[in-house]
Amino acid sequence: MSLNIDLTNCDREPIHIPGKIQSHGFLIVIDHDGYIRFESENTTAYLKNVPPGLIGTHISAIEPLIGKNEPPDFIARLIVFGKVNGFEQTNPFNTDIHGVPFYLVISASADYYLLEFEPASSDSATDIQRMIGRSISEMLADKNLNNLLNNSALQVKNVIGYDRVMVYRFAEDGHGEVIAEAKNAELPSWLGLHYPASDIPKQARELYKHNLTRLIADVHTQPSAILTAADNDVPLDMTNSHLRAVSPIHIQYLKNMGVQSSFSISLLYKKGLWGLIACHNYSPRFIDYKSRESAKLIGQILSSALEFRQDEENQQIQERYKSAVDQLSRLMLKDSNIEYALTGHAVTLLNAVDATGAVLIFDNNLIKLGVTPTDSQITGLTSWLKNNIADTFYYTSNLVSDYPDAAMFRDMASGIMATVLSREFGEYVIWFKPEQVSTITWAGNPEKPVTIDTTSGIAHISPRNSFEEWSQTVTGTSKNWSNEEIKSVVRLRSEITYAINQKAGAIRLLNEKLKQAYEELDTFSFTISHDLKNPISTIKSFTQILLRDKELKPQTLKVLDRIQNGADKMNNMINEVLDYSRINRSELTLTDIQPGPIIRDIVSDLLLVYNIDESNITIGNMPQIQGDPVMISQVFANIISNAIKYSMKSEPPKITIEGTDNDTEVVYTISDNGLGIDIKQLPRIFELFNRMDNVGDIEGSGVGLAIVKRIIEKHRGKIWVDSELGQGSTFNISFKK
Ligand code: ADP
Repeated sequence: MSLNIDLTNCDREPIHIPGKIQSHGFLIVIDHDGYIRFESENTTAYLKNVPPGLIGTHISAIEPLIGKNEPPDFIARLIVFGKVNGFEQTNPFNTDIHGVPFYLVISASADYYLLEFEPASSDSATDIQRMIGRSISEMLADKNLNNLLNNSALQVKNVIGYDRVMVYRFAEDGHGEVIAEAKNAELPSWLGLHYPASDIPKQARELYKHNLTRLIADVHTQPSAILTAADNDVPLDMTNSHLRAVSPIHIQYLKNMGVQSSFSISLLYKKGLWGLIACHNYSPRFIDYKSRESAKLIGQILSSALEFRQDEENQQIQERYKSAVDQLSRLMLKDSNIEYALTGHAVTLLNAVDATGAVLIFDNNLIKLGVTPTDSQITGLTSWLKNNIADTFYYTSNLVSDYPDAAMFRDMASGIMATVLSREFGEYVIWFKPEQVSTITWAGNPEKPVTIDTTSGIAHISPRNSFEEWSQTVTGTSKNWSNEEIKSVVRLRSEITYAINQKAGAIRLLNEKLKQAYEELDTFSFTISHDLKNPISTIKSFTQILLRDKELKPQTLKVLDRIQNGADKMNNMINEVLDYSRINRSELTLTDIQPGPIIRDIVSDLLLVYNIDESNITIGNMPQIQGDPVMISQVFANIISNAIKYSMKSEPPKITIEGTDNDTEVVYTISDNGLGIDIKQLPRIFELFNRMDNVGDIEGSGVGLAIVKRIIEKHRGKIWVDSELGQGSTFNISFKK
């Protein structure tokens, strides 16, 4: 047998159809034609001289008994009037039963009208009408929330005269706390005590939203059963009944507490049950309809006062968050750097909610604000989020319960709010709320809301009977995230996404332009290769035809030679420009390269071309690098040929080539003792067609270094030069490992 008996059982007990009423009044239920369909068993005790068994009788038969001075069909008239104008207009109807004043309270269910009769005299003899006006003005006199609550409790106590009146507030999980109290001096205070959710089960809390007051006049009286015809198996819906008997479990609960009479008034906030004004009396006490209505009015006024205050407070908070988010979105659109816009100014991400720390993980950066866990803890958290949270938003005030690793940093981040910017890139904004260690004092152990009695062989639940204070220290939780904070984060996220898209749009546009530029360059290269190369080869071939003539003057021969050289040079230049334009578009495949053999080949070719001695060139260490072999040999060829070319006139030229290797990079250095470069001109040597003034008649096109730079950049390497005019130059190239 499963003994899973706790609040869930209480949650299931159907309390709106108990089939019983409290016996301080009686009930007659009629159908739409006025026939009596239900009556409480105690009816005959109130209506003397009626034969038992009224079921099936028309109400007119007993009208003289329930309203001695009323016209014969007064019930029908009340119902017609109530149906049109609402029964609150007719309730309570003063009537007289055997000379005793009674209130008749009418309510409607789907098929019936409930006629409830209760004594018109309250146990309290105070003049309610006069009192209520004063109560309300006193209640609202104070602006302070605590005073408002305490005043309300006091005023209710004055109206109904109970021993203890408490304002009881429900938490999100349904448990309640006593937040204000008015009580007789001799009673111990219950202020600050917490009661488990099972004490007032869910369906009771639902009903409380509908019926704003409940009275249990005396827990020790026997409830009176509701009778109906034998063939009527539809239970009576008593949702609107005032006399409705309460669940025996609840009665036992009150008895265990020593309470004999209980009354409660619902406090609503935006149609939800915010709390109760809960009243206890330690002796039986009946409150008549009018006093109950007065107390209800106090409850309604308190509810609207609370609602008004809460709205005002929420409004202020919302304004604050809204202005922060507005400012951040302006900054994001103005600043090209989204991270900086969100974290670098006076107003940051932190101002969008009420948090003590925040982190932005965006664009391969992790930027922390305020008090946050460490980088590695944050990385752990984000990977947990990535794998476990499918939604765009996640928030909790008890992270440890979802993610146990958070115990390490619960002091600064027991509560988190996370929003995904891009799951793919692992981009998030996360806010942190610190741990709030609190001690909750329960009125009795909340783990044992009921006791289970199996002595009879059948499991039998009975409500707890220990109300001994029981302290519990709550750790690992933060303050809750409010609706305003959630709304603010939702808005901020959409602003960030908008800004990112906006930027992405700009980048796409640039990309388009770049593509266009490349296409133009392609066309340009094509034009050069065809439109320029053709006339050049024409020049060259005609020059060669002319050169075949044996009778040419030496002067003419010399001119034709120069024409031919010029054409060759131009052809060369065109090829170099084509090379240059091709670099960016060609795919880069990295392989391990041993530059030693490549460099030695280059050097031996160059020694022939420039006719210098091998001893002028020193080759040192040649560590391995990674790159595209063709492109890399182009780089070395260009730089080494420059070193030789621009130092040939030195006596003697000295060129050193060597590589050094460290943990992260390999750096090759090529130095010469040649012409050198003017320091002011240094940055320009890598630009296309730029040649320095000091080169004189040394041949060159000004394209080589531009090609070198492009290749190095494509390899994500670096190139830089040290040089002094007339002393020589040193080119350094670093390759990433
Ligand atoms: P060029 O074909 O003119 O050598 P580069 O692009 O290779 O074109 O070099 C650009 C310019 O940089 C050269 O014209 C020269 O003025 C200068 N330069 C390059 N290397 C050296 C060097 N080792 N010593 C002095 N000047 C150099």
